[in-house]
Amino acid sequence: MSAHRAFPIPATLIPGDGIGPEVTAATLKVLDALGAPFAWDIQHAGMTGIERCGDALPQTTLASIRNTHLALKGPLTTPIGGGFRSANVRLREAFALYANLRPVHTIVPGRYENIDIVLVRENLGGLYVAHEHYIPLGDDPHGVAVLTGMNTREGCRRIARYAFDYAVRNGRKKITVVHKANVLKALTGIFLETAHEVARDYEGKVAIDDRIVDACAMQLVLNPWQFDMLLCTNLFGDILSDELAGLVGGLGLAPGANLGADAAIFEAVHGSAPDIAGRGIANPVSQMLAAGLMLEHVGAGELARQLERAIRQTLNDDNVRTPDLGGHASTATFTDALVARLG
Ligand code: ATP
Repeated sequence: MSAHRAFPIPATLIPGDGIGPEVTAATLKVLDALGAPFAWDIQHAGMTGIERCGDALPQTTLASIRNTHLALKGPLTTPIGGGFRSANVRLREAFALYANLRPVHTIVPGRYENIDIVLVRENLGGLYVAHEHYIPLGDDPHGVAVLTGMNTREGCRRIARYAFDYAVRNGRKKITVVHKANVLKALTGIFLETAHEVARDYEGKVAIDDRIVDACAMQLVLNPWQFDMLLCTNLFGDILSDELAGLVGGLGLAPGANLGADAAIFEAVHGSAPDIAGRGIANPVSQMLAAGLMLEHVGAGELARQLERAIRQTLNDDNVRTPDLGGHASTATFTDALVARLG
């Protein structure tokens, strides 16, 4: 997209929470070894944003992304139940990052071979906007919980168009729309209907079919090879992208990109993994693959391919793997082995 940008390219780096600082530090080391063209402006968000600046999404972080239009973000912790609103969701809204791209393909041979699926998730609407409140019932002030979801026709059209354009650009042949229009007839019906409308403009180039989300989840386990691209509403995309990560060996191998007209933020699909934070055993590959998507985004696709080649060699030929992939390597050992492969 930005092959003509001047080098170096200013970019925001958000180390994030939990394992975030560990996997982003490893990623920077590898990007340096690659000679990647980024000039980083380090900013904070999530719990770290609260600790350092009193806000999960500090103004300085927003200003930096407004300036660079480009960010690599470590995972941000969102407390379950009470507490602050997800900084991830706020970031997507602040920059209208309507498309969430989550590609997976087999890097480490495992339970499934030759997986190659691209999930496109609508990133701003659906049930995930979490317009929620409680209604009192009897003496319980929180007796009833209410959630309202929202999908606009324009938003559905925009994400469908993004998915079909991506398919054309990347030689993808089929998009499966994931919905629950038999029950959520309006909220996911509008998504399904609009996707089929948009598909007419791509007839002969990209095929369309659709699946109810529960059946799709099962089909992904039984026969994932039937899928090429999945086009999902926000919540279903969140869930199915973790399932896709499972098909290729887990959350340590799944990158994502949040894309809008004015900004792009790249991240791992996984969260901040507080259970292993600070132990030096997190798998940094998802974060590194997210940096690979970022390299492609700025027109440095050759560096992205070089990075992925070196990751494959380190994992498969050198057999250096973190514990989530059955190995014994620490984050640092894996990263050093990868840097040696790049050298
Ligand atoms: P979120 O709600 O933000 O997705 P979560 O706590 O539900 O967060 P994760 O933080 O993604 O989910 O972690 C889920 C599990 O996967 C945890 O057991 C965690 O240790 C493991 N995990 C996640 N990312 C990695 C990684 N990069 N390396 C090793 N294990 C990981």
